[in-house]
Amino acid sequence: MKKQVILLPGDGVGPEIMAGAKAVLDAVAMEFNHEFTYHEHAIGGDAIDRFDTPLPEDTIKACQTADAVLLGAVGGPKWSGRPASGSPESGLLGIRKALGLFANLRPVQSFTPLMHASPLKTELVAGCDIMIVRELTSGLYFGRPSGRSADGSEVVDTLHYTREEIERIVVRGFEAARKRKGRLTSVDKANVLESSRMWREIVEEKARDYPDVTVEHQLVDAAAMKLITNPRHFDVIVTENMFGDILSDEASVLTGSIGMLPSASLRADGLGLYEPVHGSAPDIAGEGIANPLGMILSAAMMLKYSFGMEEEAEAVEKAVIDCLEAGNHTHDLDVKNGNVFGTDMMVRKVVENL
Ligand code: ATP
Ligand code: MG
Repeated sequence: MKKQVILLPGDGVGPEIMAGAKAVLDAVAMEFNHEFTYHEHAIGGDAIDRFDTPLPEDTIKACQTADAVLLGAVGGPKWSGRPASGSPESGLLGIRKALGLFANLRPVQSFTPLMHASPLKTELVAGCDIMIVRELTSGLYFGRPSGRSADGSEVVDTLHYTREEIERIVVRGFEAARKRKGRLTSVDKANVLESSRMWREIVEEKARDYPDVTVEHQLVDAAAMKLITNPRHFDVIVTENMFGDILSDEASVLTGSIGMLPSASLRADGLGLYEPVHGSAPDIAGEGIANPLGMILSAAMMLKYSFGMEEEAEAVEKAVIDCLEAGNHTHDLDVKNGNVFGTDMMVRKVVENL
């Protein structure tokens, strides 16, 4: 297959780990007889420095016509004085919105060789494998009105959803559950919020189309607790924007390794933006020691979700796990024993395993 990928390396360690993802994709193309072409564009602080805007028109256009987008990370202290609307991070929010990427998928799984790094007991997190499906372009973060009264004595944010916005994310949740262990946990606050009551109704309606999926409803406060007390309970979690934001950060610490975690932001036609969960890590940028595995696993998600290349994606995931099991680590992985490698060497190990 021929596929065109837009690369948005961004800031900090972004360009270093992006080079790793590209090397792995090149190895996949060779091994499985595909042709991937890449075009690099600017976003975030890098785009501010070169084009005086965190999201150039040119970048949006390129992404709209591509098969998929890979993003490194944006932001850093260099641009921290800027107003929110012109910040590197606004470039990332802007591209998600411009591309209509309403579904954010964050898998959280425990890697046996890294289990000692979890803040939870090994017996709690062993075998943990959760997929969080978060609504990304509506809800409390986008609802209007939002702001302060003129005299500063009142403030308002609005939690707004349309039926259609809820339906499309709920369907994503069911589809994910169907392909996994067939269990869907819908998280809401239906004892208090009207938006959550409608959410629950829609989940019940859609459940009729998925008799093979077992559905349960959990209130967000209870779900937050259960993620810690019994993380293995969960298969797929589907939830609205803010709840998903909070729960996915909570879940990401279960496995104890932020450098390992990938994410996908998708729309219905298969276009997706794939990025590691971690930020630009300015404290280690330029040192060649960043963990490239979250970025590489994000590229694996791209193969699976945007290109339908399941076998290829599994090969990459397996190469990553084999690499860890052989005792190879980067400095962030709290090594008990084994080798500590820099970014490039870690990438080379993954490529060798492929
Ligand atoms: P953001 O606001 O963009 O999410 P952040 O300040 O929350 O950024 P990160 O940039 O993710 O945080 O960095 C948090 C810590 O994790 C830093 O100490 C950083 O060095 C480390 N870190 C993040 N990503 C990696 C990585 N890929 N490899 C090694 N260490 C990393
Ligand atoms: Mg952060």
